[in-house]
Amino acid sequence: MKFSYKILLCSIITMAVSFGIGGYFFVNDVFKASLEREIGQAADDSSILKFAFETAALNIPSKYDMLQNGVVEEIGANLENRGQGTKRLLRLSDENREFLYASEGFVGDTALLARIGEQTRAYQIIHPDEHYYIQTGVMVDALDRMLYLETMRDVTEVYAERTRGFTVYRSLMLLLLVLSSVFLYFISYWLTRPIRLLTRAARKMTEGDYSYRAEQVSSDEMGQLTRDFNHMSRVVEENIHKLEDEIRAREDFIAAFSHELKTPLTAVIGYADLLRSRKLDDEKHFLSANYIYTEGKRLEAMSLRLLDIIVTRRYRLEPQETNAKALSVYLRDMYAEKKEYQFLYDCESCRICVEVDLIKNVLLNLTDNACKASEPGSVIEITGTKKEDGYLFAVKDHGMGIPEEEIRKITEAFYMVDKSRSRSHNGAGLGLALCSEILKLHGSELMIESTPDVGSCFSFLLPVWEGKKDGTDE
Ligand code: ADP
Repeated sequence: MKFSYKILLCSIITMAVSFGIGGYFFVNDVFKASLEREIGQAADDSSILKFAFETAALNIPSKYDMLQNGVVEEIGANLENRGQGTKRLLRLSDENREFLYASEGFVGDTALLARIGEQTRAYQIIHPDEHYYIQTGVMVDALDRMLYLETMRDVTEVYAERTRGFTVYRSLMLLLLVLSSVFLYFISYWLTRPIRLLTRAARKMTEGDYSYRAEQVSSDEMGQLTRDFNHMSRVVEENIHKLEDEIRAREDFIAAFSHELKTPLTAVIGYADLLRSRKLDDEKHFLSANYIYTEGKRLEAMSLRLLDIIVTRRYRLEPQETNAKALSVYLRDMYAEKKEYQFLYDCESCRICVEVDLIKNVLLNLTDNACKASEPGSVIEITGTKKEDGYLFAVKDHGMGIPEEEIRKITEAFYMVDKSRSRSHNGAGLGLALCSEILKLHGSELMIESTPDVGSCFSFLLPVWEGKKDGTDE
């Protein structure tokens, strides 16, 4: 069953029960009040009759000491006809509770008679036929005789009114329930609208439309749920795009890797086939073997680089404190024999927090690339400056530079701007990918500025040593 129908059904049941109980008590209360009034009036009538009887008895000229039964009957008949318009119903009994006189149609039972005492008035409601009556009883003191006077008051109308009240209320309740059901249907439909919108959004997402967002139509708890759902969808969409990018990058990586593998392997297979199928002279034999050797070396270098990248991705960094100047001294020593370029070193002394071997690797890669891109004799500057947010290393050359549209891609594995030139330098487009991974481990990234035919500057920020964790500094 739909949620809106459940709300509707619960509301209708609640309303029907509360209308029913409320209506029952209301009609019954009105009935009780009317009945009380009738009982009061019956008691008043009974008192009036009692006094009228006693007065009439006193006014009868007495031939005897005691009131005779015939006189009682006479007074009874007289009082019966003194009602306003209608005949009174009364019954008179003697001291032994034997009936002396009863109006025609007096149908009251004798149970009440037994309950009447000197000080006690008694009444009861009787339902002898289709009529309801209030039967009252009182003792009458007339000329030394104690008689019993009973009256009957017809209250059928009060009971009929109660029945009519119930009937009217039932019809009214039904009408109200129908009207309020229509009204409640629209309310429950309106209340459950956010749920329908969320369901539609969830379905759209299942169908692969991750950009679909549920419309927020209220600012209550349902609105909050919609906001949270949309936030969740946004995160899911971002993650899916990230995963898609990752899958695409992996596919590109595998394609580039296969391509890079194919070139040296083709040469190796070709020359090996030549060597085994023909007898070559010494020079050609040497040249073929040398091709196989150099291409094999290139494959070896490539696989080692790849291994480095994979290892770095899973590496847990253990940074140590070191002086940035020491790194520039290391570079100076490494390139001391490379006389075809002019190396300029200008590094400020600063304590940095890095894994030294990895950063040395980055600096070597960048300086190698700078050499490869520069003409012999040109200047290569290695600078280190302390900045507000870390220590900035920069390797700047005045070489061939990189076209703007290529800058973004050169940190991707196997990407080479000029493939033949890179391969001639034994490159496979893996150096900068490795540098990026190492810098990522240090919470940093490679910044590249380059202008074709002017030169390039590769820089990165490193974290500065902030003392030991216990707060002391060496
Ligand atoms: P490789 O091992 O082939 O040098 P890298 O990942 O280190 O691979 O570099 C990727 C490509 O970026 C290189 O093939 C080269 O074309 C370009 N590149 C890198 N550094 C420089 C530079 N300083 N000047 C110009 N081009 C550069």
